[in-house]
Amino acid sequence: MKLYAKENISEAVSGMLKKDCLSHGFLLTGSVGSGRKTAAKLIASHILCEHKEKPCLSGDEFDENRLCRHCKRIISGTHPDVIYPERSGKSMLYSKETLQNVAADAYVMPNDCDKKLYIFSDSEKIAKENQGVLLKIIEEPPEHCCFIFTAQSREALLPTMISRLICMSVACPSEEECFAELTASGFAENDVMAAVDAFHGNIGMCRSFIETAEIRENAAAASDFSMSLTGSDEYGMLKALASVGENRERLRSVILLCVDILRDGLALRTGGGCLSGCCKQASEKIASLFSYQKITAAHDCFRSTLEYLDANANVPAAAAALTAELISVK
Ligand SMILES: [Zn+2]
Repeated sequence: MKLYAKENISEAVSGMLKKDCLSHGFLLTGSVGSGRKTAAKLIASHILCEHKEKPCLSGDEFDENRLCRHCKRIISGTHPDVIYPERSGKSMLYSKETLQNVAADAYVMPNDCDKKLYIFSDSEKIAKENQGVLLKIIEEPPEHCCFIFTAQSREALLPTMISRLICMSVACPSEEECFAELTASGFAENDVMAAVDAFHGNIGMCRSFIETAEIRENAAAASDFSMSLTGSDEYGMLKALASVGENRERLRSVILLCVDILRDGLALRTGGGCLSGCCKQASEKIASLFSYQKITAAHDCFRSTLEYLDANANVPAAAAALTAELISVK
């Protein structure tokens, strides 16, 4: 099995372990599907693996038949010292109680190893007002503890949290590698081509695109919405979002896809080439038509809509308000 484009993380963690200065906290950032969870498992393998010289998950490939007993369980998500704190409720947030439990449990010695890890995937789901619960434990962690957070961007966590974490970005594989991986796992070439066209080297999103009609519909809605935005076509924008109806999670997904398209627009403007959004045509238009200020203001509109949605705003009303705000952005 391959571990695409994770060498930078592997090297950084190996280096820390060799110098005996392992960080007690990491933040892994990257778009959804870029392999952040795999990267977290790779760090866990470096810390807990029986093979200290060359951990089972290192470099860019690993042999599933030669995994040590720790790494086998790290991969399957069943290692007793690799803890995934639970998320609950409609919005699947980390509750304050869960965070308090982690802060208390961190002092308990590991089960099976000399270290234990807590992995918080999708740290956007830790409400900012509750992050303080974790501050002390991250500032002065017990020697046997390591905390890994994954998020789309650093903005998910408070600056006081960030300052205590080693931040690393998780890069996607190339489009060619993504194409090879998906065709090798049995998907039809035509389907893979359409998926790579939308999600580039993002293997996780390409896989979802092929397997899930909803992801294809969300990508189409985000593309239509962004194209209409570049033409200041309010009706087109409303029509694109009407397809999500009252489905909160779908509107959230479409907005996140629009944010990626917007970010690509900014990347193209600044000459960056690594695109992750699902509509290159819209990103190119944004790059040529929008000023930096307009891109930033549009980004703020998307972000505040996500906050309204988290606060249980009515979904069609949030979609209409977002459209109206974006149209008035100068
Ligand atoms: Zn191992």
